[in-house]
Amino acid sequence: MTMRPAPRRSLFDDTFWWHVADGQLHLQHCSQCDNTWYPPGPACPQCAGETWTWQPVAGTGALLSWVTFHKTYFPTMPAPYTVVTCRTDEGVLLLTDTTADPATLHIDMPMVLQHYQAVDDTGTPFTLYRWEPADTPSVGRAPAHCPGTTHCRVNPGCR
Ligand SMILES: [Zn+2]
Repeated sequence: MTMRPAPRRSLFDDTFWWHVADGQLHLQHCSQCDNTWYPPGPACPQCAGETWTWQPVAGTGALLSWVTFHKTYFPTMPAPYTVVTCRTDEGVLLLTDTTADPATLHIDMPMVLQHYQAVDDTGTPFTLYRWEPADTPSVGRAPAHCPGTTHCRVNPGCR
């Protein structure tokens, strides 16, 4: 099983992690201004409204950027590893690691969230999620549309 640092929980995100443990992703949604946000907090960061609900999100988005770490910062996450930032279809930025080869990544690439089981350094199991390219076979989604450029690395054999 994959070793990872256990998520640090704050006063406001227990509900977030309960949904992750169930294989879902829910984000806070403001009833006053229709804003959806992350990380969790006591009030809407856009209007300061305190009337909000947890709502399920699609778990799909587009790749904005990525970085590959070549230094190990956590014993449970040995280098090298790649971290991506994606904008969900709801407009929220989420950072996770990915198993994708960084040479295959490109800006605006369709991505999907994939839940997986991990253990921390004490052996305690927990559920995490990470962004993976939408055409990753293990994700079980239809292949992404090929952008048809000479730089396309979305679909092997495309070039
Ligand atoms: Zn609001």
